[in-house]
Amino acid sequence: MVTIYLDYAATTPLDPAVINCMNDLAKNYFGNPSSVHAFGQRSKSIIEKARKRIAEAIGAQPKEILFTSGGTESDNMALVGAAIANRDRGRHIVTTRLEHPAVLETCKYLETTGFDITYLDVDTEGCLSIRQLERSISDETVLVSVMLANNETGVLFPVREIGEIIQQRNILFHSDGVQAFGKLHIDVTDLKLDLLSLSAHKIYGPKGIGALYIRSGSKLEKIFHGGAQESGRRAGTENVPAIGGFGEAVEQLAVQREERHRIKDLRDLLEKKLRELKSGILINGVKSERLYSHSNIFFPNISGENLLMKLDMNGIAVSTGSACSSGSMQPSHVLTAMGLSAERITNSVRISLGRFTTQEEIEFTLEKLAQVVNRENTRVTHDPR
Ligand SMILES: *Cc1c(COP(=O)(O)O)cnc(C)c1O
Repeated sequence: MVTIYLDYAATTPLDPAVINCMNDLAKNYFGNPSSVHAFGQRSKSIIEKARKRIAEAIGAQPKEILFTSGGTESDNMALVGAAIANRDRGRHIVTTRLEHPAVLETCKYLETTGFDITYLDVDTEGCLSIRQLERSISDETVLVSVMLANNETGVLFPVREIGEIIQQRNILFHSDGVQAFGKLHIDVTDLKLDLLSLSAHKIYGPKGIGALYIRSGSKLEKIFHGGAQESGRRAGTENVPAIGGFGEAVEQLAVQREERHRIKDLRDLLEKKLRELKSGILINGVKSERLYSHSNIFFPNISGENLLMKLDMNGIAVSTGSACSSGSMQPSHVLTAMGLSAERITNSVRISLGRFTTQEEIEFTLEKLAQVVNRENTRVTHDPR
């Protein structure tokens, strides 16, 4: 049975170097990093090495990197931390309708505590209007949170331009960089970011570990209370193998960068062949600047859910991009916010490629897609309904 993984936007397999590194750390670095003895200090050195690597990768200082349990915690910490610490100055936050649930649900929670949230709209290509953002900002605004790249479509947001607009004001600027990290060049100074969320498992690192960049001097309330770990900003004994594995994954990002043209060519090949396959197949967000790895595709006459299942039976893993909770599909909030038709939203799937994707895999996937799509088409044309 063939197995083809085309869901790199959901998570990535571990880089072999990361597996080796984590094995060694799990075996030989069990000491508590807070312990004064040699066992503890050895573990602590692993954490500090990883912190330095991650800081360097985004143009930050090591002391500005806080380890968290992943992108979700980083987003929660950034939003709730900034909101609480700055609520005396104002209670308005600006974000977009396309954010990851880790941001959107946190904003919904903040609304229940008296914050006013502006959710910026996008056009049908998933693009944000800078004008609308400018107009939404008031003296009450304490935080702007805009993701670097969307996880469902790969569409990029103009974070640099937004940074320039808000830099003169006393507003914290947060970005969810989880999808973009390793694929786009990110420099926090250049982008004028105060807060940036990262996660290891989208860059061939382990799950359950992430980081939050916090520009020195940014006012942020801590959420975890307890021990003095992470300079007192996040209590709890550190996960040394995961932190070390995250650092190693960042070290290996050079490999991913070398692969980006190959991956883009495969993604473009997939999209080109699909458009030739059948008229009516459309790529969502295609007119926008996108990550090279994502493709969000509309297939007429077959639901995304159905297509996902048919591909899964053939050993091919893709995603609908939307949250599947207890078997019931919620329509994608991203495609909905883009104002696409109900049919277009239901009949779209996300195919995301990565380092281990091969040309053979893409060709096999195209073959299977052609079979499924043609069969559905025949069924529909001969069905007198
Ligand atoms: C995956 C993802 C997250 C969540 O990260 P976890 O480490 O899984 O908690 C947040 N934001 C975006 C854009 C993501 O793609």
